[in-house]
Parts: sequence; C-alpha cells; structure tokens
Amino acid sequence: MKQVYLDYNATTPMDESVIEVMRQNMLENYGNPSSVHSCGGRAKAAIEEARERIAAIIGADPSEMYFTSGGTEADNLALKGAAWSKRRKGVHLITSKIEHHAILESAHFMERVGFNVTYLNCNRDGVVSVDELRQALKPDTTVVSVMLANNETGVIQPIREMAAICREAGVLFHTDAVQGLGKMEVNVKDLDVDMLSLSAHKFYGPKGIGALYIRKGVRVMPVLHGGSHERHKRAGTENTPAIVGMARALELADAKRESEHQRLTELSDYFIDEVIAQVGEVNLNGSRDNRIPSTVNLSFKGVEGEAIILSLDLKGIAVSSGSACASGTLMASHVLAAMDIDPLLAQGSIRFSMGRQTTREQLEYTISVLPDIINRLRNMSAAYNQSD
Ligand SMILES: *Cc1c(COP(=O)(O)O)cnc(C)c1O
Repeated sequence: MKQVYLDYNATTPMDESVIEVMRQNMLENYGNPSSVHSCGGRAKAAIEEARERIAAIIGADPSEMYFTSGGTEADNLALKGAAWSKRRKGVHLITSKIEHHAILESAHFMERVGFNVTYLNCNRDGVVSVDELRQALKPDTTVVSVMLANNETGVIQPIREMAAICREAGVLFHTDAVQGLGKMEVNVKDLDVDMLSLSAHKFYGPKGIGALYIRKGVRVMPVLHGGSHERHKRAGTENTPAIVGMARALELADAKRESEHQRLTELSDYFIDEVIAQVGEVNLNGSRDNRIPSTVNLSFKGVEGEAIILSLDLKGIAVSSGSACASGTLMASHVLAAMDIDPLLAQGSIRFSMGRQTTREQLEYTISVLPDIINRLRNMSAAYNQSD
C-alpha cells in the first residue's frame, strides 16, 4: 500500500545528512561540554559553532541564542521567565486564543499564581486583531506573546506590527515562530521581537531540541534550575548531537526555503481546488492567501474528523485533526472555535500538512480516495442527514 505522510506540522522526517552529522558528533564529541579537558572542549566548540550558524540565519547574535529541549520549553521560558523577571513592574500578560498549548497552558499557570492574562481574539480568517492588542495594553502589562504562524491553519500573524506597538509601549514581545522557521523568512531584527521560539523537529531536525532567542539586555528568569549552562538561563547538560543536527537542519531548510515555498504553493492550490470540486460541502479554514501554503485545514460538513483520520489511515495516508496535542479528545479545536467556525463544522476538520517529500502523485492518490470516504461517512451520519 502507498504511504502518504501529510502531517508535517506535527513533525518532520529527519534529513539523512542531519542524521549523519549527529552520528559523527555522538561518536567523536561525546565529552561533557562543561568539562575542562579537550574532549569536553571539542563538544563545547561544536555547540558554539552551531549556535553561530543558527543565529546567523535568524539575524541574531550568537550570545542571544539559548538552547532548550524544544519549542515547548522555549515558550515556557519566554512567557514565564519574562513575566517573573518583570513582576515588580506589573502582572498583566497578553496572548491570543489561537496559541499552541505550550503558551496557553503557561498562561493558565501564570493566572493560577496571581498574574492576569488577556486572550486576544482573531477574525474568521484566523488573524489575531492588532486593534485589540492596542486596546488591551495597560500600564501594568509586561509581556505579550503571539505566534508567527498558526500550527492548525498555517495563518500568518501580523507580528511586525504587534511587536512595534509593544516596543513603543515598553512591553516585551515574544513570538512562537516554530511553524514559521524554514517556511518563511524569519529575522529577529526585521520583526523587532524581544524573544522568539524555535523547534528543530518542525524543520527536519531531531526531536527534543529547540532554542529561544532573547534579545540582548532582556532579562528572563530561568524555569529550570541547576548548573550554569546556557549563561545561567537553562540548566542541564547540553544535547550536543541534537544541537549540531539542528544547525544543519536549519541551514538546509533555509537553502530550500524559496523553492519549496513555490512548489508547495502550487501543490496546495491544486489540492484545495480539487478537494472542494470533488467532495463538495468543504470549507477551507483560515485565510487562503495569508498562509503558510503547506498547511491546508479543511472542514467536511457532517462528519467527524477522527473518523476521516482513521479511514485515511487505512489507505496509508497520515493526517491529523488540528493539533497533535488535542487529538484523542473529542474537543473541537480551540483555534477553530476562536475563529467562530460552527462547532459541527469544526468537528469535521482535518489538517493536511505537506512538506519536502510530498509529491503531486501522493496528492492525486489522496484526492482519489477522499470522496468515497466522505460520502460513506456522510451516509452514516445522523447530523449530516438531518441537517437539510
Ligand atoms: C510543535 C509546536 C510547539 C512545540 O514544540 P516541541 O518542540 O514539540 O515542544 C510549539 N509551538 C508550535 C506552534 C508548534 O507547532
């Protein structure tokens, strides 16, 4: 049976050359980077070289990059760490309703320990409101966090505008750029953000490694306490092979970014048009143009997303409903809810996310099996058959 992977927003396969540099590193630079001997020194040098290469791609200074165990930890460090360090100025934080759980749950935690949080709305296109941000800022606001590109819809947020508003108000601005890296240009100077999160496994690097950019002069309290690693901001022995792998993966993703963007825009346009034409009663969730093209979130009226996923899986096609973290629960996506999508439609939403190995043939195959699956599920669906 054909195997078609269309879940690149959940994670990506590692590039062979990334695996190779990691293997070499594990064999040769196994020393503890904190050790004084030269075996440790080689590991330390490998980390610092990787730090420089990663910083160069996002326009940062190497001293502004802090390695973490992934996007989740980078988000936690940014929101909680900056909020704690500014607590004497105020306890009001702002984020949006469509953030990844790494930010939303960090915000909920901060509420439990005495902070106040405003959650910004978005419009039907999935774009967070800049005006609402302006109105939400208060004298005691200290940190704002809004993501660069949404993981469920691919919709790109007006980060440069939001960061400028916060800069003027003297408020720290963080963006979760995990879904943007490797898919669009990401430059911390151009965006003028104070903090930015990245995660290697979303750009064909290893899982369990990420980084937080923290602009020079911005103070962030650590979330993990221990040794003096990462200039006292993140304790724990560095994951040298993963760090080296991340640098390699980011360089590759950056080199392929423009050609892949072009290729995936064409593939995704083809896919959206064909599915809408062949299945019927399908909605594209989120703006069609202001999007990472490789993310296609479609609602199929009258069917359960879970049922579609299982049926496609039997045909060898891997997709997901919204985010990986919310799967397994029957809760409709918080992102689609914030976009005011009818809950019944949201229940039947599927995220098709494409990437480097996606081909036109794979999409043709997917389109060839989809109408039968949806028709069969619709025939069994009371909700669908009662609706008109
Ligand atoms: C995947 C993802 C994360 C979490 O990153 P991990 O490295 O898996 O912890 C955070 N934010 C967004 C937008 C993501 O897509």
